[in-house]
Amino acid sequence: MTGNYEPPLHSSVLPEFARELAARLAEHPDGEGLVSQLDRLPILSRCRCREPGCASFTTGATDGRAPAQTVPLLGGGPWASDVILDLRDGKIVYVEILDRPDIAQILDALFERLRRGTV
Ligand SMILES: [Zn+2]
Repeated sequence: MTGNYEPPLHSSVLPEFARELAARLAEHPDGEGLVSQLDRLPILSRCRCREPGCASFTTGATDGRAPAQTVPLLGGGPWASDVILDLRDGKIVYVEILDRPDIAQILDALFERLRRGTV
């Protein structure tokens, strides 16, 4: 990693999920101020729980503390699974995605490429 390292953006790594998240936030009462953050939301690191289907990732500094606020977007209807956003000072710092092996697979490939330095 160089000092100029630019983390990949979730909107370019996971374009389908980014559209899904925007649609889900549009339906949420607290979603309005969050939709505008989605385009520039980086994928900084990945959850290490190794739970099958966990595709959670960090998008900001969590300082190892519990989030100040969470925005739960529950599954059901067209949405395959629950997604929970953790906020700190109104900023999305963590995206918790469970039971989404499709997204987990894309993130596996991304972090493998990052590890090899081929992104
Ligand atoms: Zn996890």
